[in-house]
Amino acid sequence: MSELYELSGHEVRSRILRREVSAEEVTRSLLERISKLNPIIHAYVTVDAEGAVARAKEIDSRIADGEKMGELCGIPIAVKDNICTLGMPTTCSSRILENFSPPYEATVVEAILEADAVILGKTNLDEFAMGSSTENSAFGTTRNPWDTSRIPGGSSGGSAAAIAADLASMALGSDTGGSIRQPAALCGVVGLKPTYGRVSRYGLVAFGSSLDQIGPITKDVFDAGLLLNVIARHDPKDSTSAPEPTPNYVAGLKTDMTGVKIGLPSEYFGEGLSEDVESAVRAAAAKYEELGAEIVDISLPHTEYAVATYYIIATAEACSNLSRYDGVHYGHRTERKSDIIELYSRSRAEGFGPEVKRRIMLGTHALSAGYYDAYYLKAAQVRALFRRDFDEAFEEVDVMLCPTSPTPAFKIGEKASDPLAMYLSDIYTISANLAGIPGISMPCGISPDGLPIGMQLMAGTFDDEKLLRVAYAYEQATDHHLKRPAPDALQDRKDAG
Ligand code: GLN
Repeated sequence: MSELYELSGHEVRSRILRREVSAEEVTRSLLERISKLNPIIHAYVTVDAEGAVARAKEIDSRIADGEKMGELCGIPIAVKDNICTLGMPTTCSSRILENFSPPYEATVVEAILEADAVILGKTNLDEFAMGSSTENSAFGTTRNPWDTSRIPGGSSGGSAAAIAADLASMALGSDTGGSIRQPAALCGVVGLKPTYGRVSRYGLVAFGSSLDQIGPITKDVFDAGLLLNVIARHDPKDSTSAPEPTPNYVAGLKTDMTGVKIGLPSEYFGEGLSEDVESAVRAAAAKYEELGAEIVDISLPHTEYAVATYYIIATAEACSNLSRYDGVHYGHRTERKSDIIELYSRSRAEGFGPEVKRRIMLGTHALSAGYYDAYYLKAAQVRALFRRDFDEAFEEVDVMLCPTSPTPAFKIGEKASDPLAMYLSDIYTISANLAGIPGISMPCGISPDGLPIGMQLMAGTFDDEKLLRVAYAYEQATDHHLKRPAPDALQDRKDAG
């Protein structure tokens, strides 16, 4: 590896601490690459070049003074634009928050700054994290760095594309139904959704509050553990933040898989799964066997209800969370109003995009008098069945292995007019959110079209450490995570949307 922008987070940190390179040099190398490639990839909606350089200089001078530095010393990080950053725009890629700069820092942002990271800017997403392709962003679609005529996945598509195109050393995303894991899979990088409650949601703009979780998107599994070490902590400002002590997620990483039992859930290998994805994931299972793990078939019988359950719970919570954007409390305010009702309705009509409006309508319907029992209550009951499925499965196996997404990255525009087809692209990721368990996506192959394929591992509640250990063993035994898009792929393509 020759360029600083190509380094993983942990490599950046150790080179800086060994004084082989300065934080400023690393930051400038990334900023230069961003100014060259972001106009094509559109991973960032805000780049804070000045702030990043000033911060890197400050870190260099503290190193020169012999200060003891934090776990993310000098690592340039991209933050998804639904995570609040003090004084830096936080738009959720929505017109309604176009001019919003939060008066406070999200807990995870505070944590990475305390650990001496450098924030490069804010990354693009589907508006309010609702989508699987970033096509729902009000500020334009992010391109997949492996093929710019394709989507990068979503909703954390900007963060995943930034890592794949070497526009950040590490990134933060958020995952309500797959938004960290699915774009990580489609961009050939690592994405970890931690156990619900492991990472504070304070300062994450709420979508589905009982499902949302912030997590790392990185170039390798070690980096995912390193970043989780910093952001996983109990936070009194988030009532669902877990008091459980946080282990050191990188200390236990090893490659021996003897005695580890891995389940292949049969429901995740059925209709709709592309053959290329299936054979890559089955090859990964064979690799695990070689490493000493035992592979067993397992069943998660309620899987077929996951998408329907999710789209009731997530939209119900979303319509309630989004009620604060009314032109008074927050966000865009219409110019054209004659009374208070018109102020609310026009501000919202002008500020929200079509997918967000669709979700508000679905959620309002699910919660309305007369329908509440049939939809929301029923969905909440079915949700308990997913938890039971997983609890029972994890009595038998340590982790589960399955695809992350049924297909590699699709073309821009391919599913944009068919919401149901788009919703189905999260079929394998949604259950982990409904059950609150951790899941990680990591690269496991390349399709005949030259697109990355991701596999997903899931573990039991608060077994994030075990999850990372199993992921690491595979990564160390293979080289999928080292593959990057060919430089000539990173070009503006005429056939791109
Ligand atoms: N794609 C799913 C949705 O549209 C999940 C999004 C997410 O995890 N934020 O709701």
